[in-house]
Amino acid sequence: MKLGFDIDDTLINLREHAFHLYNRKLNQNVGLDVFHGLKTLEIHEAFGLTKEEGGRMWRDSMEEVYFTDCPPFPYAVEVLRELEEQGHEIYYITARPKEHGERTKQWMKDNGFPVRDDRFYYGMKDEEKLQIIGQLGLDYYFDDKPRVLETLMDQQLKVYAKSNSYNQHLHIPRITCWSELKGILEG
Ligand SMILES: [Mg+2]
Repeated sequence: MKLGFDIDDTLINLREHAFHLYNRKLNQNVGLDVFHGLKTLEIHEAFGLTKEEGGRMWRDSMEEVYFTDCPPFPYAVEVLRELEEQGHEIYYITARPKEHGERTKQWMKDNGFPVRDDRFYYGMKDEEKLQIIGQLGLDYYFDDKPRVLETLMDQQLKVYAKSNSYNQHLHIPRITCWSELKGILEG
């Protein structure tokens, strides 16, 4: 089968990684309970930052957020490797900016994800994911972002939300932990 995955907050715990980083950089100690209660994908509100300040903070932190030690979600690496060994095709489709694309691909390899160069897509806008996903003829696609998931819900492929505090309002199949993935594929 052809399986497509978003990266940030789908396969790796990027927001929480950024949350810890913001606490350090801003010399604050905002608790994880606040993090888990956030209804927005953006995390700046938890630190009392305006949208503009939050945008600047994100841009200034991007390098560190992306390329340090962000942990993959539990079982993500193991399960994807196993599926790849079984002959499934694993595709990555991330909206990370073009200039970070190749380093992101290498980072994913370094962190144990099974990555083939011709199955790694980056630098597109949210709405362009729809096109790429359509062209690839995926059987399954996994993402966390409401705006992306909403554009895909009417498509042929099976779309799953990686469950998170900001996508609970979507009526869509969801995956909470990657240990569930094989069960999902077996139907
Ligand atoms: Mg994402």
